[in-house]
Amino acid sequence: MKLFSESSLSPDILKAIGEMGYESPTEIQKQTIPFILSDIRDLIALAQTGTGKTAAFSLPILDMIDETSRKIQFLVLCPTRELCLQITKDIKNYTKYLPNIKTTAVYGGSSIMEQIRSLRDKPQIIVGTPGRVIDLINRKALDFSSIHWLVLDEADEMLSMGFKDDLETIISETPETKQTFLFSATMNKEVERISKNYLTNPHRISVGSINEVKKNIKHEYFVVGYRQKKEALKRMIDANPNQYSIIFCRTRMETQEVADFLMQNGYAADALHGDLSQAQRDTVMKKFRLKNIDILVATDVAARGLDVDSLTHVIHFSLPDDPEVFVHRSGRTGRAGKDGISLALIKPEESRKLKQIKASTKIEINEGKIPTGDDIMKAQVNGVFEKLLNEGAAEDVFAFDDALIPDLSQFSKEELVHKLLQFQLKELGTYYKDRNDLVEARFNGGDDRGSRRERGRERERRGEPRERREGGRDGGRDRKPRRNSENMVRFFFNLGKRDQLKKMDMLEILNKATSKSKKRADIGDIEILEKFSFFEIEKSFKDEVLRGLETQKFKGKDMRAEVAN
Ligand code: AMP
Repeated sequence: MKLFSESSLSPDILKAIGEMGYESPTEIQKQTIPFILSDIRDLIALAQTGTGKTAAFSLPILDMIDETSRKIQFLVLCPTRELCLQITKDIKNYTKYLPNIKTTAVYGGSSIMEQIRSLRDKPQIIVGTPGRVIDLINRKALDFSSIHWLVLDEADEMLSMGFKDDLETIISETPETKQTFLFSATMNKEVERISKNYLTNPHRISVGSINEVKKNIKHEYFVVGYRQKKEALKRMIDANPNQYSIIFCRTRMETQEVADFLMQNGYAADALHGDLSQAQRDTVMKKFRLKNIDILVATDVAARGLDVDSLTHVIHFSLPDDPEVFVHRSGRTGRAGKDGISLALIKPEESRKLKQIKASTKIEINEGKIPTGDDIMKAQVNGVFEKLLNEGAAEDVFAFDDALIPDLSQFSKEELVHKLLQFQLKELGTYYKDRNDLVEARFNGGDDRGSRRERGRERERRGEPRERREGGRDGGRDRKPRRNSENMVRFFFNLGKRDQLKKMDMLEILNKATSKSKKRADIGDIEILEKFSFFEIEKSFKDEVLRGLETQKFKGKDMRAEVAN
């Protein structure tokens, strides 16, 4: 089946998908559509989001549904509200010319009464999240005794979100005679267990073997110490202008921290994670889809429901434990025939994890060099021209009278371009002007560790102090504890260079703010940027600093600080 028109799907479905621009089936559709239409066995399909799996399972089932019956025949269970709404929307589109087929979405975080009311429509299809489906079963609002087809979509995700018991309860409400289709991006023990228990002699298909899907994605990794990770991230973003990307973090807290850091540094970014309310998550996703923000910092789970095809980059701020998750994350870029880039920030002690990912996914991930200020400014200049050439033909956003252009004959064309670029990129250029490039970190664990002497040489080359042997010559002596990230806290401060703030002023402000204490506060890095600054201070002074700043003013301006990470 090269074209949908060659399939046996009904003309009403073909017409609807034709209007949606579907001409030829995707790989998974080629495999599942004929199978579901003709076979009675269960199915396990390994497929990621973006492969066209929703149409893969729903088109053949829609073709077979009995539209004269008003009983629930087809149930799709999926992990998140976003995915639930997406699948429902897709199915409604596919059934545009089948007016007797009704679909209802049931998901948490929305009025259950309203959903009960919409069930009075007697839909043949239910798309739901497990928790809400259970609630509705308990209220006797759902009757699954006539189910013919059950789809467990993103089964791995449902299990990792703790829906195992709910799934089992729901499955027990459905008849034994039904056909079950399990879709999962990854295959792990839990998925295997659930398929063993609830699927009978399943046919297995797998699409987009990892290498095949990933061919159009370039992977790079960068080794950076923990304290330099955010600065390295900033450089990744600055060195790749005009990007539309997702930055993946491991925890909700890390996600929020990274997003705050980017927002404070003036990027159009926001966070998406499970600590946000449903309404907040919806707003963030909407902003990202509309490209009001172009960087989304997200946890793996929260990003699941988001379906965008045009991501230019995926950045792994932290590596996931499961190599399959790495593949899944990276696969969010390089869709719809475009090339994609996946960049991973890796801590020196994570060499083993990286090796494991490389070995089990067979992806070629090369080490990249953290961009220098020069690299970044070159990339930014290219970015301006790229945008100019791509969007130059777009309509002007405001009326422009050529008479406004003064006599510029004193400048050549090159000089003019040069000057305009200096204006355009002034802030970033100033930021990187006197900034040292990041020192490349090296792997320090497992096989990559190298000898002590080699590490010593490497340190010497970088001008760092020698490693100290525990319990060595001066190991036992009582030393002043060295300043490290553990006992320091980093603050964002609302004033910067444009307020004429200098390092000396910042020191004075901090000394004054903590002057009531008998002990002197240890002050760490101070970074004065154009519009704001950052400073580090001993953790035990955290509250005192905040109080101490409230009562001071700098050149008549109020001061405000907040913890940056
Ligand atoms: P899914 O993997 O189901 O989330 O689908 C990913 C995207 O591909 C969605 O935007 C679908 O509308 C689109 N899509 C699915 N099948 C096809 C097809 N055969 N041709 C073109 N687009 C498709």
